[in-house]
Amino acid sequence: MIAEVIVDVPAMGTDRAFDYVVPDRLHGLIVLGIRVIVPFGPRKITGFVVAVKEDTELKRVKPIVDVVDLSPVLNGELLKLGKWLAESTLCFLHSAYQSMLPAAMKMSYTKHVQLLDETKSSQLPQEIIHLFQDTGQLAWEELIKLDLKVVRFVQQAMDEGLLVADYHVKSKGKKKKQKVIVRNSSREEIVQYRNEIKERAPKQAVVLTYLSDMNKDDIALVELMEATNASRATIKSILEKGWIEQVEREVYRDPYENRHFERTSALDLTSEQASVIEPIIETIENKVHNTFLIHGVTGSGKTEIYLQTIENVLNKGKEAIMLVPEISLTPQMVQRFKGRFGSKVAVLHSGLSKGEKYDEWRKIHRNESKIVVGARSAIFAPFQNLGVIIIDEEHESSYKQEENPRYHARDVAIYRGEYHRCPVILGSATPTLETYARAQKGVYQLTSLEERVNQRSLPKTEIIDMREEMRTGNRSLFSEALFNALKDRVERREQSVLLLNRRGYSTFINCRDCGYVAQCPHCDISLTYHKRNRQLKCHYCGHEENLPPSCPECSSEHIRFFGTGTQKVEEELNKLMPEASIIRMDVDTTSRKGMHEKLLNTFGEQKADILLGTQMIAKGLDFPNVTLVGVLAADSMLHLPDFRASERTFQLLTQVGGRAGRHELEGEVIIQTYSPEHYSIELAQTHEFLPFYAREMKIRKLHQYPPFYYLALITVSHEELMEVVDVCEKISHQLKEILTDQAVILGPVASPIPRVKDRYRYQCMIKYKNEPNLRRVLHEILVHYKKDKQKNSLMINVDMHPQTIM
Ligand code: ADP
Ligand code: ZN
Ligand code: ZN
Repeated sequence: MIAEVIVDVPAMGTDRAFDYVVPDRLHGLIVLGIRVIVPFGPRKITGFVVAVKEDTELKRVKPIVDVVDLSPVLNGELLKLGKWLAESTLCFLHSAYQSMLPAAMKMSYTKHVQLLDETKSSQLPQEIIHLFQDTGQLAWEELIKLDLKVVRFVQQAMDEGLLVADYHVKSKGKKKKQKVIVRNSSREEIVQYRNEIKERAPKQAVVLTYLSDMNKDDIALVELMEATNASRATIKSILEKGWIEQVEREVYRDPYENRHFERTSALDLTSEQASVIEPIIETIENKVHNTFLIHGVTGSGKTEIYLQTIENVLNKGKEAIMLVPEISLTPQMVQRFKGRFGSKVAVLHSGLSKGEKYDEWRKIHRNESKIVVGARSAIFAPFQNLGVIIIDEEHESSYKQEENPRYHARDVAIYRGEYHRCPVILGSATPTLETYARAQKGVYQLTSLEERVNQRSLPKTEIIDMREEMRTGNRSLFSEALFNALKDRVERREQSVLLLNRRGYSTFINCRDCGYVAQCPHCDISLTYHKRNRQLKCHYCGHEENLPPSCPECSSEHIRFFGTGTQKVEEELNKLMPEASIIRMDVDTTSRKGMHEKLLNTFGEQKADILLGTQMIAKGLDFPNVTLVGVLAADSMLHLPDFRASERTFQLLTQVGGRAGRHELEGEVIIQTYSPEHYSIELAQTHEFLPFYAREMKIRKLHQYPPFYYLALITVSHEELMEVVDVCEKISHQLKEILTDQAVILGPVASPIPRVKDRYRYQCMIKYKNEPNLRRVLHEILVHYKKDKQKNSLMINVDMHPQTIM
C-alpha cells in the first residue's frame, strides 16, 4: 500500500504529494488526514496523508517511519478546503493544512497516550487495562510496537474519550500544574495553633484564620496568597509546622472553567428581528446554502438573532461557528454565548495559551463542543455537521490573515457553507463596500435592522473643529465641549469612554529647528517614543535606541515629541481633572495575559470614571453606565496612504459611537477633528451608512478600486535595490503581455514602507475584473523566481485581495 504525503518542506519544488510505502505494522492506521513521519533526504519530517492507493509508478519509494496520530486531524472536507486555499491564495499546501490546526500541534508530535481520568481505568477494554496500570500512560514508541489488534482497542478507547494522545511540545511540559495548599488538620487544631502564635506572628495568624474559616479543604496557593495578602515566606513557615500541606495538582486548561455564567434564555424577538431571522431559519430547514448580510445599527439586536439561529441549529443536532473580531472577544461577548449554551461552547482567541487552545480544539474534534466562538482561525473548526456560520462585524480587517495563507475568513466561510449546505450570516452596522455591493446585486441576501431595540435612540453626535479651538487659544488636547462633558459625567457619576487611535507616549520625535525625525535605520519608518524606558522603538523590526538628548543632525535641544499617545492623554487628564479616575487600555497596559479582561471588569464594576484607550476599546463593549464617548483625533487614520482610509475612519467612528447610551441612560458622542468637512467624519455624525456608501462607491469607481475591480498585490524584496527593481519590472512586463486589456498594472513602485529589516521593497498592483489566467501566471512567476533565486534570498509575496496596501 502507498500513501501520498504532503511534507513539511515549504518550498516550491516540494509543494506536492510524495509517495511512501505503508509498512505492514502501520497497515490500518494510515488513513486520510493523519499525520506521519517520513524520511526526506537525510532528515525525518512530518507530513499529512492526503491519499492512499494500491500502487505507484515510482521505483524507489521509502517507507513511512511512524504515525503521529491515531485518528485523522483533518477530515475529508478540510483536506479539500486546504487544496482550494492553496490554489486561491497561492500558498504551499502544507502551510494551508497547518494553518487549520492549533499551534500546539505544529511543532512536535504525540509522545504518549494517557488516561484522561485515572479513576476510570476500569472502563478500559480488558485487553489494554494492564498497559495503563502503573503510570496511566503509554509511550508512543511502545504503542506502535504492539499488535495491531491491541492498537485498535487503544484507538477505540480514544474515540470514547477515555484515553487521549498528548501532543505537547517537549520543552513546554505536558500538563498544567498548580500548587495547592491542603488543610490536613481539623479547624479546631488550626484555631488553637493560631491563638498560640497570634502575638509573635500576626501575618501567619491571618492565614490560619482564613484556612480555618474556609469552607473547603484546599485552596490554590496563589488564591490563598491573594486573599490573605501573605508572602511565600509566611506560608512556608506554616507549612514547616505541618498543619497544612502543599501538593501539586493538575488543572484542566479551561480558561472559563471556574467562571459562573448566568443562564439566559431566548428573548421575544421584535417584529424587525423576526423578519430577519425568518428567511435564515427557512434556509436551515431546507438544507441549502445562502449568504445573508444583516445590516443593523449598533444595538439593533443582531447578537440575539445569532443566538436564536444557533439554538435552532443545535436543536437539529448540528454545529455552529461564530466568528467575532479578536478585540471584541471580550468577556462580555463570551458570556452571552456561554450564558445561553453553557459548556457546549468552545472559545478560541489569541489570549489563550497554546495548551488552552489545543484543549478547546480537541473538544470540538471529539464533538464535545457544538459551538465555537472565536477569532479568524476558528473558521477551520473541525466540525462534521455544520448548521450555520456567523461572522459578526464582518467589515473587520482582522478577518484577513496577513501572512501565508493570506485567506479571508469570509471566503472560507462561504466555501464551507456551500459544502455543508448551510447559511452563512454576515453582520455589521458598517459592512465593507464589497459586501454591501454584493448584497445589493443579490449575490448575498440583504436584511436590515433599522432601529435599536426598544427604540432607544442613537446617541447625539457632535463634531468639534480643533482648528477653531486653536484659534480661540485652547492648546489643550481637549476641546472645551469635551472637557465640560467629561467633567459633567464625573460629577454625575456616569462613565465615559475616550478613544485615541494611537499607542505609546507620542508617535515620533522631531527637531523644531531642522525638522529631523528619528527613523529606524533598517526600515524607513519613524521610531516611536516610549516614555517608560525613554527609548525609541521600531514597530516593524523591534530596533531600539535611547532618546537622543539633542538633535543628531543640528545639535539643537529643541527636540520634541510630536503626536499624542494614550499615556500623554492620561497625564493631561490627571492634571486637568484630578478627581477623575482613569483606566488606560493600550498595547502597553494589556500585554500581560488576562489584563485586558481585568481592566474591563474594573471599569464594568464602575470603579473608574473614564476608560481611555486605543481602538481595542471601540468594539463589543456594552456598559450601561457609559453615557459619553469622546474621540480625540478622528483623523489620525484618514491620511494614511491606503484607499480604504475613509472607510476605516467611518467604521471606527460609527462603532465607537455605538458604545454610548445602549441602555436606559441617553448617550452622547463628541468627535474632535482637524478635518470636520471630510465626508467620512460628517456622515459618522448621523450614523448613516447608506449616504456614506453611495459617496464612497463613486470614488471607488472613479479610481478603479474594489468593489469595481479586484486587486492583487505583488511585493518583491531583497537586500539589493537594483535586484528588486529589476525583478519587479520583469514581472510587470510579463503580466502586461499575458493579461487582458481590461487589467490595469501599476508599478513597479517602492512600497509605502520602502525598506523593512534592511530589505528594499517594491510592488506591483494589478487591478482586474475577470482574468481567468491570473492565478496560473502568478503561480508560474513564483515558481520561476523561487527556483532560480532561492540562494540569493529574493522574496516575492502575492496577496490576492489585499486588505491593506501598506
Ligand atoms: P447588536 O448585536 O446589534 O449590537 P444586541 O443583540 O447586543 O445588538 O442587542 C442590544 C441590546 O438589546 C442587548 O442588551 C440585548 O440583550 C437587547 N435585546 C436584543 N434583542 C432583544 C429583544 N428582542 N427584546 C429585548 N431586548 C433585546
Ligand atoms: Zn535638528
Ligand atoms: Zn525597524
